[in-house]
Amino acid sequence: MPMTTVREKEKAYLVGTGIESLAAAVYLIRDACIPGENITIFEKSSSSGGSLQEIGLHDEGYKIKGIRMLNTSSIATYDLMAAIPSVRFDGKTVLEEIVAFNEQMKVFAQARLVCNGRVVTPDPDELFNHLLDIRQAISTHHQSENLPIESIFEPVFFDSRTWELVSSLFCLQPWHSIKQLALCFNLIEHHQISIDTLQGLEKTRYNQFDTLIFPTLLVN
Ligand SMILES: Cc1cc2nc3c(=O)[nH]c(=O)nc-3n(C[C@H](O)[C@H](O)[C@H](O)COP(=O)(O)OP(=O)(O)OC[C@H]3O[C@@H](n4cnc5c(N)ncnc54)[C@H](O)[C@@H]3O)c2cc1C
Repeated sequence: MPMTTVREKEKAYLVGTGIESLAAAVYLIRDACIPGENITIFEKSSSSGGSLQEIGLHDEGYKIKGIRMLNTSSIATYDLMAAIPSVRFDGKTVLEEIVAFNEQMKVFAQARLVCNGRVVTPDPDELFNHLLDIRQAISTHHQSENLPIESIFEPVFFDSRTWELVSSLFCLQPWHSIKQLALCFNLIEHHQISIDTLQGLEKTRYNQFDTLIFPTLLVN
């Protein structure tokens, strides 16, 4: 139950400006009535946003701010964004901004994955059969879910376009556990996400930092 009396004397200290600390700060302000100026967030890097910020390390490579793929299972993110005022649309929340954008722009990737200059297009029958094989394998091996994925499929499966599409969507490796595969696969099935076109997903209008982090940093 949210409180109503402003707690002027309470102070909160959070470590890191990733989405987790920012969410905690928003709920402390909104539900625990702690004034924003009483909340301190420590950050060791020179910019805010943690994993949702970009980094460029000359020797190690770069991570850029991409759009964030979301769907209706992103309950915590959507709840948080319902509490954040949009900085671009007066009187709207960030959640309303995301919903309006996705009503207008449906996700349908024409080139979800490009490999050696060609778009990875699965054969529909092969894709259907492979997805059935994955579902079957997960059910059969649910009691040994800590085994690696590579222990339950023939090596040829890992050369298939289905594996290219599934593994690249979730950063899966053959040595990841069957449990991890099951978690990812449940998401695909539950939301009927098409792994070649990404239909079934929603996305942010701008990159993940500008859409989610920047407006959250302005809450006080
Ligand atoms: C490329 C990529 C793609 C991803 N895709 C998805 C996805 O599709 N869906 C999904 O749900 N998740 C995804 N994730 C994961 C998701 O982004 C992270 O789980 C989430 O952003 C982590 O937020 P966090 O606040 O817990 O930590 P972080 O974002 O890691 O933030 C931690 C912050 O703490 C700071 N910090 C650390 N130590 C200290 C210290 N001692 N003092 C001060 N500051 C400190 C760091 O500098 C950093 O800013 C992805 C992550 C990456 C990198």
